[in-house]
Amino acid sequence: MIQLSNIEKVYRTKTIETIALNNININITRGEFVAIMGPSGCGKSTLLNIMGLLDAPTGGSIIMDDQQVTALSRKKLALFRNLKLGFIFQSYHLINDLSVIDNVELPLLYRKGISGTERRKRALEALEKVGLSARTKHYPNQLSGGQRQRVAIARAIIGNPEIILADEPTGNLDSAMGEEVMNLMLQLNKTDGTTIVMVTHDELMAKKTQRIIHFFDGQQVS
Ligand code: ADP
Ligand code: ADP
Repeated sequence: MIQLSNIEKVYRTKTIETIALNNININITRGEFVAIMGPSGCGKSTLLNIMGLLDAPTGGSIIMDDQQVTALSRKKLALFRNLKLGFIFQSYHLINDLSVIDNVELPLLYRKGISGTERRKRALEALEKVGLSARTKHYPNQLSGGQRQRVAIARAIIGNPEIILADEPTGNLDSAMGEEVMNLMLQLNKTDGTTIVMVTHDELMAKKTQRIIHFFDGQQVS
């Protein structure tokens, strides 16, 4: 599903050169739930940004869903991202001026041929899946952290993505809420077969996934 070959990322400024990723080779199969762990600065966010097609590697190739994405134009990349990928962030990244249901609908606004009625219907279905049908008209700041993250998950799944990329999804939550969010992701992985890649510092959460990839200093160490 995701095949990273010889991925390298070097950040260059006038005076400093940082090798953030050094010859990364990772194969993630369809339906897998993988955790990525490692100390701060080891390249986890860089890797997730590259898998999310938000940032280009300085070397190597990426195949996602049988497509050589490193060769795609900017426009095709944006389309691929919108159709195939869902994102979950540590700090939720919800829009505070929009209601819960409007937040969830956002990814569909960029798709052609989906009516307003259809968007609503699918947003309600997504909110039902995350157990928030009773909070559609609320605003993000009226919700707990765990509820906000569940809204973000509904937004991530509304477009039926093949792959979900999650950056410290439980990092801002207490253990009970973290557990809830983690269980929800496990359920999505199991019932929908969504491939999930999750960066986490939390060993307990990581252990619930199928595989842990450990990073250190820009390299995969196990
Ligand atoms: P992690 O997510 O594991 O904390 P990052 O991927 O954020 O690690 O960072 C990996 C390395 O790349 C670090 O040394 C960081 O300072 C550097 N880095 C990350 N982003 C940039 C950037 N935009 N410009 C320069 N260096 C960066
Ligand atoms: P998230 O985006 O996962 O919700 P935050 O917004 O709290 O998490 O950001 C996590 C950390 O990653 C911040 O310290 C931010 O500066 C850093 N970060 C995010 N994107 C980049 C990037 N492209 N390059 C370097 N650092 C980044």
